Amino acid sequence: MSLSFARSLRTLSVSGQHARRFPYVLAWSSAPSSARFQSSFPTTGAPLADIDPSRLEVSPTPSPKPLPASSTLKFGHTFTDHMLTIPWDVKSGWGAPQIKPYGPFALDPSSTVLHYAQTIFEGMKAYKDADGKIRIFRPDMNMKRMNTSASRIALPTFNGAALLELIKDLVRLDQQWIPTEPGHSLYIRPSLIGTQKAIGVGPPNEALLFVIMSPVGPYYPDGFKPVALYGTTEFVRAAPGGTGAFKLGVNYAPGILPQQHAAKQGYAQNLWLHGPEHYITEVGTMNVFVVFRKDDGGYELVTPPLDGMILPGVTRDSVLTLAREHASSKNTITGLPANLTVSERPVTMKEVKEASDSGKIVELFGAGTAAIISPVDRIGYLGDDIHIPTGEGGMGPISRAVWTELVGRQTGIIPSDWSVVV
Ligand SMILES: *Cc1c(COP(=O)(O)O)cnc(C)c1O
Repeated sequence: MSLSFARSLRTLSVSGQHARRFPYVLAWSSAPSSARFQSSFPTTGAPLADIDPSRLEVSPTPSPKPLPASSTLKFGHTFTDHMLTIPWDVKSGWGAPQIKPYGPFALDPSSTVLHYAQTIFEGMKAYKDADGKIRIFRPDMNMKRMNTSASRIALPTFNGAALLELIKDLVRLDQQWIPTEPGHSLYIRPSLIGTQKAIGVGPPNEALLFVIMSPVGPYYPDGFKPVALYGTTEFVRAAPGGTGAFKLGVNYAPGILPQQHAAKQGYAQNLWLHGPEHYITEVGTMNVFVVFRKDDGGYELVTPPLDGMILPGVTRDSVLTLAREHASSKNTITGLPANLTVSERPVTMKEVKEASDSGKIVELFGAGTAAIISPVDRIGYLGDDIHIPTGEGGMGPISRAVWTELVGRQTGIIPSDWSVVV
């Protein structure tokens, strides 16, 4: 026990009983705040500052960049004039948020993010509707997921509503960067990194949250182009007890080499499988859906359950919610069949192959923020190609109806609580 700790217990004798049971908490809140005193205590449970939008400092860029022509946009290559940064340290918590010109950071070479992948991210989109209003799609889900990701790798958590207010400030400031052509949007990329200046594996004593934004065009500029997948039996993306269910930087670099392998064989992405049964899990960096035709003539829309290996996608949740509301007649969606079953259940490659052989597979597609819906027409599996039907215009009947409703809600054409006006 340090000397200062002993002294603090004496000064807290009024509530001595309590102090002995919860020394850290009490010492922090009622004891003299000399630097020496503070440094001798772990800060767990101490009242650290949360993200506070009222402390925002804004320094606008003196030299705004020329806006790019929408037709030249390449996903994630162009960034707006400003970024948001919020520092954190273990002693005081979240510092003053800053909106400043977009530009490089100075990071100490020992920063833990550079060695141990202490980094998480999010991805969401802002749209400008026909009335010029700015809308972000279900950002509360992203704020929640970012906190889940942060706690999984011992990065600091934060008030998601407060961060969202600051993101709205950033979007407002750079709103001329939101392209208005159909299918265009502003991609928002929040990120959080560990910046402790020490080569040691542990929770960082410093971190940096930042948000950058990129104007993007439609994923499929010339109409939906179904992609071919490689059902990989050589590589895995996630495993039970692993980190697949969290949006951590560490999950993505290991997927690049398998992606190159798939591309060399003529496939666009990997279909990630699990276990000797070859359960389908995800496609590339998207969630996966399959539609089966049932014996009674109805349809079953299926996606694998959130078993710890599946990333809980906002698009996934939206597709499921829309389909379930339709199936229960709560909110009918034009184009969806009345006889629709919605399932979160495991699906094996055997089931997909048999359904393809017997003509019972209706479609298979990926779902995620960047592409929204990505139709699949072929899966390479154990040396053979499994053929998947694609409907008119490269898209199956179920995904087309859901996509139309989703895009309507995202862009404000269809009124929805999911679309948050900035
Ligand atoms: C981000 C992501 C998704 C899709 O999530 P959305 O919230 O719908 O964008 C799916 N799978 C992986 C691996 C992802 O990283």
